[in-house]
Amino acid sequence: MKAGRRAFLRSVLAATAAAALSPGPVLAQRAAPRVVVVGGGFAGASCARAFRTADPRIAVTLVEPGATFTACPLSNSVIGGLRELSAQQFAYERIAAGGIALARAAATAVDAQARSVTLADGTRLPYDRLVLAPGIDIRWGALPGYDEAAAGLMPHAWRAGEQTLLLRRQLEAMPDGGLVVIAAPANPFRCPPGPYERASLIAHYLKTRKPRSKLLVLDAKDAFSKQRLFLSAWSELYPGLLEWVPLSKGGGVTSVEPATRTLVTDFGRHQAAVANVIPPQKAGRIAEAAGVADRSGWCPIDPVTFESRLQARIHVIGDAAIAGAMPKSAFAANAQAKTCAAAVARLLTGATPSPPKLINTCYSLVAPDYGISVAGVYQPANGQLAEVPGSGGVSPTEAPRATRALEAALAEGWFRTITAEVFG
Ligand SMILES: Cc1cc2nc3c(=O)[nH]c(=O)nc-3n(C[C@H](O)[C@H](O)[C@H](O)COP(=O)(O)OP(=O)(O)OC[C@H]3O[C@@H](n4cnc5c(N)ncnc54)[C@H](O)[C@@H]3O)c2cc1C
Repeated sequence: MKAGRRAFLRSVLAATAAAALSPGPVLAQRAAPRVVVVGGGFAGASCARAFRTADPRIAVTLVEPGATFTACPLSNSVIGGLRELSAQQFAYERIAAGGIALARAAATAVDAQARSVTLADGTRLPYDRLVLAPGIDIRWGALPGYDEAAAGLMPHAWRAGEQTLLLRRQLEAMPDGGLVVIAAPANPFRCPPGPYERASLIAHYLKTRKPRSKLLVLDAKDAFSKQRLFLSAWSELYPGLLEWVPLSKGGGVTSVEPATRTLVTDFGRHQAAVANVIPPQKAGRIAEAAGVADRSGWCPIDPVTFESRLQARIHVIGDAAIAGAMPKSAFAANAQAKTCAAAVARLLTGATPSPPKLINTCYSLVAPDYGISVAGVYQPANGQLAEVPGSGGVSPTEAPRATRALEAALAEGWFRTITAEVFG
């Protein structure tokens, strides 16, 4: 990244943090406003915490069924045998200790007129403003043959946890010389560089443990995030082992046959020893129940406040939202969460939120000591979040291995920092 761009990103980061931290106008003298946040992932947990800073008088309830959160970033390293799943897991104790009420249940319904959320145990939580941050759900059946039972044979591992371990165990059990196939979805989906980082770290596992094996990436698109960097690193690190097949060359998977781990394309059939199917996705299902998802399955939002374009007083952040040019990443979810909390705190006092600037950086590991990244700054433009012209960029195409090693260390450092901020 050029020095100028780094300085620009730093100045925007400072401005964004300052905006998120400013206390805002004093609330009118009345009962504390109630905000309910659904989903304790990168978006929801960050947002709940940001409200404590934006205005500590707001009564915040975080709704999350899980006792611990299992993070996706770096979960590809778990699949590649480089990291344990326990390093991905975080408890909610510190969040509760910070003055946020925790409701340990799934939200099952939202009454936008009455302004209340119903939980799986029947509890109803009234709100003045609701923030939905449910992440993604799989579109079961959108890829013919791929249903919940199929995921037990051809794991997606696109929500971290048991699926991550299943894919790892399948790779460990596979004899040397086997064919591994990854099916990558069409846009939009969670973590645009994620399938290619996964391909890299599975290739690293095969190269070091099962070198006679082969990895095929069947892609439903012709272009992907950080493509030049990935392709050049693959030809350097994994020649003859990893093959990427774009849509135009027969990469589009049209159906799967789980019993034989077969992936079918218009050009042929591939029987895999291990198949990782990353299927089409949509916003977490509570979004649909709340009436904030459109026909695409994702949630249109106002780019200043993240308020739903379909339901007043309901805000949507993180992967579930249609955030324009911003990718669906944990980094973006955290930035959106802070912006949304600051905006909602102002709306609750009758003030007008200012247009935000949001940053995203996505690191990917191509090998344990080989990292690459893409970064961008986003602001509202024409009702969407658009990339600030000239703000973005990727790692240099030509760089010494020391630079790649530094970016791999930065990826680890970013993960430690964000998880400490959100859950620590
Ligand atoms: C393999 C992989 C690698 C990735 N690597 C990176 C990376 O390096 N960097 C990066 O920035 N991003 C990365 N990502 C993307 C990142 O994981 C997501 O963008 C991020 O988790 C989105 O945050 P979220 O809060 O929207 O969703 P999540 O983090 O999935 O959180 C959603 C939460 O909502 C809860 N929930 C869902 N429905 C309900 C309900 N009805 N009631 C209550 N709670 C509910 C869930 O239990 C969950 O805890 C990666 C993703 C994958 C799959």
